[in-house]
Amino acid sequence: MDHPQVATGQVITITSGKGGVGKTTTTANIGVALARRGKRVAVIDADIGLRNLDVVMGLENRVVYNLMHVVRGAVDAERALIRDKRVEGLMMLAADQHSDKDDVSQDEMIQVCEDLRPHVDYVLVDSPAGIEQGFRNALAPADRVILVTTPEVSAVRDADRVVGLVEAAGKGAPVLVLNRIKPDLVARGDMMSTADVLDILRVDILGVVPEDAGIVAATNRGEPVALDAASRAGRAFHNIAARIEGETVPLLALDETESRGFLKSLSSLFRTGQDGG
Ligand code: ADP
Ligand code: MG
Repeated sequence: MDHPQVATGQVITITSGKGGVGKTTTTANIGVALARRGKRVAVIDADIGLRNLDVVMGLENRVVYNLMHVVRGAVDAERALIRDKRVEGLMMLAADQHSDKDDVSQDEMIQVCEDLRPHVDYVLVDSPAGIEQGFRNALAPADRVILVTTPEVSAVRDADRVVGLVEAAGKGAPVLVLNRIKPDLVARGDMMSTADVLDILRVDILGVVPEDAGIVAATNRGEPVALDAASRAGRAFHNIAARIEGETVPLLALDETESRGFLKSLSSLFRTGQDGG
């Protein structure tokens, strides 16, 4: 109260283990959904991947400064942010397409996030796949960790390893976003259900996002689906944002068997790092 400069923003890292499961999609859409709730949100691209955060958000043509400029001290973190003109309060820090993940240290990532905290309510860090340096850099500044997986054996197995690494890093247990669920396949027993995945990972569920062809189309247009809160996947991301803010929102009723038994209180999911100012 007496200290206007006290850092307030929370850092949430979105990670996975396996690549291509929807981290960047999740980061962009949670960013949109939190900003639509009136929050100030900075999304940071800590990955250099096929579909980068700037492309998914449709901001690639407006990138002037990137993370490496900030790390090298060429520009302040806050000045390097690109403002999204569609959503008040949404900002992005791009990745450098020309440098290597090893060019940034954990301390430098922590410092970038510290510099942003006073300016925003949330910093969302889009992590690279794997468990190498880039993953550790993305994890280092996190107050909370969101683990994304699809209901495939290989993705869940990699996610399981990441649960241990996140806990070992002192970040508490991550919470899960289960992405690309196909209710018809689950009903036929051809796809793991939410319950199956939770049985293996033993973490709390933050949200379930259905397979939605609209996501691919939206990504190609640079328009995160959460811009359209009426779309099925868009709704899922808005529910996730509400839960991040401590609201109790039932999981999307993908179908009866999927949703039954999961309408428990979700407000206490994030137990660590709650007191950021
Ligand atoms: P990551 O960042 O983990 O590598 P992306 O977010 O780039 O993964 O997603 C990989 C691909 O999967 C992209 O083409 C994206 O559009 C698609 N995708 C992600 N989530 C969904 C979904 N729920 N339904 C359909 N396609 C999806
Ligand atoms: Mg990605």
